[in-house]
Amino acid sequence: MEVKSIENNIPVLYKAPENPSKVDWARINKLYVTVQHNKVKICGHKFHPYNDPRTSCQHCWVTYFQNHGEVTKMCDEIFRNDGPEVLIRLRGERFVKMFKRFMATLAKFKEEQENSSGIQQS
Ligand SMILES: [Zn+2]
Repeated sequence: MEVKSIENNIPVLYKAPENPSKVDWARINKLYVTVQHNKVKICGHKFHPYNDPRTSCQHCWVTYFQNHGEVTKMCDEIFRNDGPEVLIRLRGERFVKMFKRFMATLAKFKEEQENSSGIQQS
């Protein structure tokens, strides 16, 4: 099977093999069927734009929360107004654990920024 890339990087299948082997089918599927997801740069895990990360990898979760501003905002409101138990019931324990970590990191980051800007002003 001959596969070449044209200028805008869209792969083109020039000639379909007469008796495609398993490897050929894998290539064809990869080109035309499989949805390719981006990877999280720091850890290299695949990033799925819609699903919660399946791992407990902190980088994946940080990327998830950063890319889902609305979800994060909504969870923050539920967490503050209704408490963590409600959020656990809605999204599961791992989600809430990672959410708490993310929010704590954000708070710390914000605090550090405020402190450093305070030093610069005085
Ligand atoms: Zn990861």
